[in-house]
Amino acid sequence: MAADAVVVGGGLIGLASAWRAARAGCTVTLVDPAPGSGASNVAAGMLAPVTEVAYGEEAALRLNIASARRWPGFVDDLEAASQLEVDYHADGTLLVGFDADDMRVLDELTAFQVELGLEVQRLRSRGCREREPLLSPRVRGGLLAAEDHRVDPRRVVAALSRALSIAGVEVVTDRAAAVEQARGRVTGVRLADGRTLSAPRVVLAAGSWSAGIEGLPPAVVPAVRPVKGQVLVLRGGADEPALTASLRGLVQGRSIYLVPRSDGRVVVGASQEERGFDTTVTAGATRELLDDAVRLVPGVDELELVEAIAGLRPATPDNRPLLGPTELDGLVLATGHHRSGVLLTPLTADSVAAWLTDTDPDPVVAAADPCRGSLHGPAATRGPDREHVGRTRETVQ
Ligand SMILES: Cc1cc2nc3c(=O)[nH]c(=O)nc-3n(C[C@H](O)[C@H](O)[C@H](O)COP(=O)(O)OP(=O)(O)OC[C@H]3O[C@@H](n4cnc5c(N)ncnc54)[C@H](O)[C@@H]3O)c2cc1C
Repeated sequence: MAADAVVVGGGLIGLASAWRAARAGCTVTLVDPAPGSGASNVAAGMLAPVTEVAYGEEAALRLNIASARRWPGFVDDLEAASQLEVDYHADGTLLVGFDADDMRVLDELTAFQVELGLEVQRLRSRGCREREPLLSPRVRGGLLAAEDHRVDPRRVVAALSRALSIAGVEVVTDRAAAVEQARGRVTGVRLADGRTLSAPRVVLAAGSWSAGIEGLPPAVVPAVRPVKGQVLVLRGGADEPALTASLRGLVQGRSIYLVPRSDGRVVVGASQEERGFDTTVTAGATRELLDDAVRLVPGVDELELVEAIAGLRPATPDNRPLLGPTELDGLVLATGHHRSGVLLTPLTADSVAAWLTDTDPDPVVAAADPCRGSLHGPAATRGPDREHVGRTRETVQ
């Protein structure tokens, strides 16, 4: 029997969208050769609209804030449905500066955040160490973003997978080769093994791989490219945590973050590299991340290095996701979440459920309309931005 919708991609975005749609009454099939193996397996899990804010990206900020507000309810629903905990903590984020130049950048950032009406509190070096006792005394000062929280994305994937199965969503472990269409409307998805899954609606949520699905008219192929990020996972004792909450820092112009988990692990990230679909872990990025992490929290040196891993952020030309119906009748995009896909999961999933049930989503998602003007024109380069070729760090602006 044909489903109401096929969701292509089983990262956080596809899994959550399928779950919310099923709860809204749709019959859903999800297709992914390896669910949960993409960027969602690598992400640090910061839910950080305030410390992620970037100049000129106020529209993205509005999306991020709207989704951050949905996280507590999303966690309650998901933990109840799956009977699994997702390690969500509403305990704020400290952003610190290492030297005088880093502090000048933080001064400018604070002024911008205040101008936007965001809640931030400046702290001197001592105030930072009162909050994070293992922080280096060389840290000059920082700011506290009380509304920036954290979650463990791998646990969210596990909980969504179980919730999907309880909700009766069929998961097909194959690759979607093409979106099928007839007379200008979607009819289903052709799988790599040649089978077809029929459905009047298809949700394209394949992260960095979203532009590679065949069968789409050129005008609706999503302008998504992969941006590589390398992270390290360290482990200490759960009873003697290295950190109490998310810590971000600027160390001589390079940004770094350390995000603790309840089991004593700490995720350290992240590089930002325009290298296509390459996910090699390099010695250089590993060394740089460790050096800067140790400068902020010297005790990190003693932790066990348990994982070094790279993932691909699905980026768009204007750094906003692509969410909503397209010019191809029946095709809904839910991709291009770049650095904020974990944060944007609840808003995206609720919006997809609304589109699949012909109801109106939160009006804020209009800023992510796949047909928006800023995606077409001179700024809409599909390839790497020249400035960003090579390895940089996730920016704190
Ligand atoms: C290093 C790093 C750190 C990050 N930290 C954060 C953070 O702290 N906070 C935050 O909010 N975001 C963060 N992100 C961003 C976040 O991880 C992504 O935006 C988010 O995971 C995107 O989810 P997704 O489901 O769209 O993509 P993915 O998780 O990449 O999932 C895409 C899925 O599509 C599947 N797929 C691919 N091709 C096909 C096909 N043809 N058919 C079927 N399925 C297919 C893949 O197997 C995969 O499972 C980070 C990302 C990286 C790389």
